[in-house]
This record gives sequence, structure tokens and C-alpha cells, in this order.
Amino acid sequence: MRHVAIIGSGPAGYYTAEACQKLFGDGVRIDIIDRLPVPYGLIRFGVAPDHQSIKGVSRRYEAVALSDNVRFVGHVTVGSDVSIAELLELYDAVVLATGAPHDRPLGIPGADLPGVIGSAAFVGWYNGHPDFADLAPPLAGPNAVVIGAGNVALDVTRILSKTTEEFAGSDIAGHALAALEQAGIRRITIAIRRGPHQIAMTPKELGELGHLARATPHVDPADLPPAEEDAALDPGQRKSVAHLRDFAAPRAADAKPLTIDFDFFAAPIAIEGDGRVERIIVERTRLDAGGNAVGTGETYAIPANLVISCIGYRTPAIEGVPYDPRAGRFANQDGRIAPGLYAVGWARRGPSGTIGTNRPDGIAAAEQIAADIGESSGKPGRPGLDKLLSARGVDIVTFRDWQRIEAAEIARARPGSPREKFTTIGDLLAAIGRA
Ligand code: NAP
Repeated sequence: MRHVAIIGSGPAGYYTAEACQKLFGDGVRIDIIDRLPVPYGLIRFGVAPDHQSIKGVSRRYEAVALSDNVRFVGHVTVGSDVSIAELLELYDAVVLATGAPHDRPLGIPGADLPGVIGSAAFVGWYNGHPDFADLAPPLAGPNAVVIGAGNVALDVTRILSKTTEEFAGSDIAGHALAALEQAGIRRITIAIRRGPHQIAMTPKELGELGHLARATPHVDPADLPPAEEDAALDPGQRKSVAHLRDFAAPRAADAKPLTIDFDFFAAPIAIEGDGRVERIIVERTRLDAGGNAVGTGETYAIPANLVISCIGYRTPAIEGVPYDPRAGRFANQDGRIAPGLYAVGWARRGPSGTIGTNRPDGIAAAEQIAADIGESSGKPGRPGLDKLLSARGVDIVTFRDWQRIEAAEIARARPGSPREKFTTIGDLLAAIGRA
């Protein structure tokens, strides 16, 4: 029997469990450990609440979770409840699937002013993550600035723009819906440090901005390269740029109250304000021959009552695990960190790719485990962990417990919504009768 511990119950964790099941059949026992009392990581807390079809992948993970050789061990924090060194004593393989839940720092003066928020916090807030339930972002407006040219910048912009009616069918947290209903934002500037051909936004997500009930996207035609240059782009990128060209086309007088302004070639260099954010200073850039942004020395201010930085994420370090601070993830060689210790997903590769990109990581990890460890090392696995946790008074949340939490969230959903999430650890535990 092989004993495998997977740390993190998001996509990378479940794909690894699925791959281990396929490869080892009955010859494996897998514990998926998560610090939260709920599974699915990025699916529950990262994927936008109005993208329910993407969240549907959790049904596949549920099938894995409900099989006999897989167990969810919720509400257990690796680092404080149990250490990596202890897990390596208990299990044949320990796989870090901890994602990249921390914001990459902006690293410019004023970035710590109140009203400047990272996307991890803002996305966590509207998705009901217990760490961010109290965020209270300043939404009075009139000006918000979103930094970045990726899909997270688009998610954040769209969520700030939608009407209550447009959230029908979503599972946006009730506190976020109520706050957004009262918001007074009239202009969202998306500050992008390079040009239209360099965006990381994908076409479907970009196209959604063109269909918002109360917001109009706008691109300055002068920022667009000559149309014939689009031919050199790959097909997906060409579709994205086609949306930008559409957003640059002159429109009939538009009565929509909110404008989404794409500000290309604008690199943030400082954030200013008296006790809280009032403006962001950007430097006009141009592209060098390699397509990198180079400052031109010309600067200007964009008014901002709220700044949301969507410039990527980092994996938090764990004591005793080699870490690559430059890349913001665990130091690893194709997923191998140290004997018996592996990384998958964003903890391995950094924060890029779609949910499905994690699947090959899981398969690779299972194959590495097969190559590195024999049939059994005689390590104790599950019973050993249970003994250690119970000696420390740690009361785990099982998958059956989670199903009771889920049923309670479904029962209290707004009409038309799939669920109303509990947004504090206390409320999540109270739903299964724990104080
Ligand atoms: P991303 O796609 O890597 O985009 C990050 C953006 O931040 C880039 O445009 C980058 O610009 C910019 N940036 C980085 N440092 C900056 C700085 N110091 N100043 C200004 N701009 C800076 O990351 P993401 O948006 O966080 O998304 C993470 C992954 O999740 C991506 O693979 C994304 O596609 C995926 N995702 C998918 C969906 C979906 O499919 N619906 C939704 C959300 C996220 P440069 O290019 O100039 O460096």
C-alpha cells in the first residue's frame, strides 16, 4: 500500500488524487489536506461567481473525493497543526498543491495606502473566502483603477460593473452583492503597461465586457497597432484584439452610466493620496524590439478612489520546503522538490494556465511517485495522521461534513442562486454543529 498526502484541495490537488487512483488502483490511500473546512480551493474561491459552468468541474472532483481510497482532511493547517517533516514521516509521498493565493506585490510607493487592494483579497471577498469576508473595499467611487492585462483584471472589472440582475444565477457572496448594489463607481480604468498585442486576456472573457447592461468598454483607437499587423498574432490573440478594435469603434451617444477605459502603455509608478488612495501616477511606455515596456519619462495621474492590482500571484513558503523567491513558488525540478516531496499546479509552475492545465501536473506527479517509491515503505499513512492530530486536539472536517455544509448553503441560497456561502470559519463549523 502506498500512502500519499496531498496538501490543498483545489484543481491541482484533485487531479493528482485522480491520477494516483488511476495509476495505483487499490494500492493507494490518499489524504487531501486543506486548511479550510471546505474543498475545491480556486474553484470555490477564485473562479468568478458568474462563471458557474467553470465551477461545475467540482462535480468531477467530488467523484474522486467519494471513492474509498481518497479522504478529505479539512480544517488542518500544514505548518501549525502538522509539519511537512511529520507528514514525510507518515506518508510515502507528500504533494504540495497549495496554489498561489498571495498577491504579487506592486512594489511602488503608496501601494500600502488604504483603498489599494490586491486581486487575491478582492476576488476572495466577492467569492466568500473566510480570510477576506471583512475586506470592505471602498466602492463609493467615482473612480476605480484595475492594474493588469490578464483574465483576473477582466473578472474584477466585470464584477465591479454588473448590475444586481446580471448576478442572477451566480453565487457571489451576499455581502459583496449588497455592497456592489450601493457602489458609486462611474469609471473603471484598466491600466495596462504594454500594448493591445501583448495582453494576456482571452477572447471569451474580453467579449463579455461588450455585453454589460450598464457599462461600456472604450479603447483609444490611437493605441491600436495597424490592423494588418493582427495577421501575425495567434488565432486566440487575434480574436481578443478584434474585441479591442470593436471597443474602439465610434458608438452612438451611449447612455450607460459606467465607462471601462482601457489605458494601454501605462505603467504604474506611484500611488498617492492623503491617508487613502486618491490617484495613481503612471508612466507612458513604449515597446522595445523585444516587446518589453520601456518608460518614456512622460507621467500623468489617473484619479482613483479604489485601486485593484491584478498582476499575478505567489505561493506562500512553508517552513522546511525549498523556495524560489524570484519565481514565487517552491523550488522544484519538474515537480520534484526533495525525496518524497512533490509540487503540482501553481505551486510548481507559477500562476498561469487554465484549470485543465493542472491535470498533466497531477499525472506527472503520480508517475514520479510510481518511479520513486516502491509498493510500500511500511509508513503508517492515515492512522498515523489521525493519531497525531487527535493527540493535538485537532478536529478534522470530513467530506461528509462538507456535504452537510454544502446542503446548508444550498438551502439558504437566494432565489436563482446555487448557494449562499458561509463566509466565516465559525459559520462553516456551526453548519455541522461545531462551536
Ligand atoms: P496573468 O494572465 O499573468 O496577467 C497578469 C498581468 O499583470 C499581465 O498583463 C502583466 O503584464 C501584468 N503585470 C505584472 N506585473 C505588473 C506590474 N508590475 N505593473 C503592471 N502590470 C503588471 O495573470 P492573472 O490575470 O492573475 O491570471 C492568472 C491565470 O489564471 C492566467 O493563466 C489566467 O488566464 C487564468 N485565469 C483564467 C480565467 C478564465 O479563464 N476565465 C479567469 C481568471 C484567471 P505584462 O504582460 O506586461 O507582464
